[in-house]
Amino acid sequence: MKYIGAHVSAAGGVENAPVNAHKIGARAFGLFVKNQRQWVAKSLEEKSIRAFRDNCEKFGYKPFQILPHDSYLINLGHPEKTALEKSRNAFFDEMQRCEQLGLDRLNFHPGSYLNQVDEETCLRTIAESVNLALDRSRGITAVIENTAGQGTNLGHTFEQIKFIIDHIEDKDRVGVCIDTAHAYSAGYNIRTAAGFEKVFSEFDALIGFKYLRGMHINDSKKDMGSRVDRHDQIGEGTLGSEVFILLMNDSRFDNIPIILETPDETRWKDEIAFLYGAITVKR
Ligand SMILES: [Zn+2]
Ligand SMILES: [Zn+2]
Repeated sequence: MKYIGAHVSAAGGVENAPVNAHKIGARAFGLFVKNQRQWVAKSLEEKSIRAFRDNCEKFGYKPFQILPHDSYLINLGHPEKTALEKSRNAFFDEMQRCEQLGLDRLNFHPGSYLNQVDEETCLRTIAESVNLALDRSRGITAVIENTAGQGTNLGHTFEQIKFIIDHIEDKDRVGVCIDTAHAYSAGYNIRTAAGFEKVFSEFDALIGFKYLRGMHINDSKKDMGSRVDRHDQIGEGTLGSEVFILLMNDSRFDNIPIILETPDETRWKDEIAFLYGAITVKR
């Protein structure tokens, strides 16, 4: 079964996210559990937590259909001690929020080396940050999102993601989310059927589909290998629609939240309908 949705707004309270998802016909959704551009935010209120859980129940969203995204400010591989500490605390705070909401996973961008340390040192720091957060929390899987490799962002190759996983102690609580636009910008040619097959076989051999806990499906405004992160509407960017049709008909992407992060939210409803309509393989 495919669970398609979008990264919906949680403005006015997290409890609004499942309502917003339901309105666009989503069977999955992504959200920020905290203002994504601020370091500190007040804790979730009890009534907000209860309303979130009630709304998820009412509209049929189980934890495996929900993919929260962490704040863009967090850098779990930060080369400076104080800044790293700040990021680690913020990440742990987000994990706690996910726990309170009854969720089971938290998607994050690995981190950036900021030209101050080498890549391997940064990857080790990221893994250690995740280990610390997992140690202090329960029930939440840390989901590593692949990046476009913009600037000094790491996690743009499957090898880097594998390196992080290899250094995480609790393998049951680490996962991966593949963002199609990021993968393409990072140089993975998933635009054609042959390319799609090759890239995902490589993913399976190196990391393994058992780690796949979510997908972000976006077209890209930028060319393959540009390492620039700019999302576009499905089928309207440099990727084109074939990859998404292939994905919808591939059982390796079943039973995980598949989330649109395309720029024009007024079109999410149609994009979701288009994607479900693209299913031709009956199982
Ligand atoms: Zn992301
Ligand atoms: Zn993404």
